Amino acid sequence: MALDLSEFQPRSMLHLPETKVARSRFPVIDVHTHLSFSASSRNGVALGEKMRYLAPPQELLRVLDRKNIRTMVNLTGGVGAGLEEAIRKYQTPYPGRFLVFAEPWWGRASEPGYSRFQADQIERAHRAGARGLKIVKTLGLYLRERTTAGPLVKIDDPRFDAMWETCGSLGMPVAIHVSDPEAFFLPIDRFNERFEELNHHPDWSFYGKDFPSNAELLEARNRVFERHPKTQFVALHVGNNAENLAYVSACMDRFPNMHVELAARIGELGRQPRAARQFFDRRQDRILFGTDAVPHGVETPQQVFGDELYEIYYRFLETEDEYFDYAPAPVPPQGRWRIYGLGLPEGILRKVYYENAARLLGLSTL
Ligand SMILES: [Zn+2]
Repeated sequence: MALDLSEFQPRSMLHLPETKVARSRFPVIDVHTHLSFSASSRNGVALGEKMRYLAPPQELLRVLDRKNIRTMVNLTGGVGAGLEEAIRKYQTPYPGRFLVFAEPWWGRASEPGYSRFQADQIERAHRAGARGLKIVKTLGLYLRERTTAGPLVKIDDPRFDAMWETCGSLGMPVAIHVSDPEAFFLPIDRFNERFEELNHHPDWSFYGKDFPSNAELLEARNRVFERHPKTQFVALHVGNNAENLAYVSACMDRFPNMHVELAARIGELGRQPRAARQFFDRRQDRILFGTDAVPHGVETPQQVFGDELYEIYYRFLETEDEYFDYAPAPVPPQGRWRIYGLGLPEGILRKVYYENAARLLGLSTL
């Protein structure tokens, strides 16, 4: 009998303890969430200042209080007047509960004088209260010399140097998403471990066409880290190479200004629990807690903001439970495997949940 892969939903017959972790052991700063997005974009490039909002603060605060989350960082705060609006909506009325990051004006990157303009806009964002800068994978994978046409703009293009430097001098950390999982750069075929996910979202594939390789993208990113040592970078999604922790760790050796966060990668970390545990032991001062939570983001089950999502992260970090789902979904959405808890000691948990992020963001420690 042939069985369609999409219908296969095996249930584990293991009899093992299941620990419910309703609240984190220590207060949490979630450094990677999305509460707003640019209202308009073309071919992966956000355009204009208008924003759309995914949930009102009151709705979010109920979950934050239940889950012991002190602060939620909204990375995609936008630009200009839209950014100022996002700050007024979340950050100003709820001090310390929501922080908002600015984004670059990607739509203007091909205009003359952009370098100076963008650096000035970072200063404007800082005056408005923005706490950092977010770089989406637009840089390296979507932004082109004529915005949506022409050759791809390189991650280490010198037109951004003034922007990186200004962030450094203003103490604004840069949360940077570069590249994507290794499997997204391979053919969508029966050998691809993310087959179902890519088959579902073929637009996430960067195989072929004129896309650089994953390694080229990461090396361009590294040249930015190297050229701007006074700027603090948070390489999102475990430096977007959680499949290769040895590489991530080597990069962190080379660049003391490089930090990482966990969002949407506990599926990777949790399937290699011994390597991951070593990584946490060695890098405990530069790992931040993040989830990539999106309120009502049902398209990507590993990111749906809510109690269930946080309980999975807490279970992964705090317990030694074995072979459990890394996302609230009937089929693991980022590859068909399950994960193992790390059972981190209190000292590391405190740093990862709160202290490392508080230090970078200039918040009071506990
Ligand atoms: Zn994200």
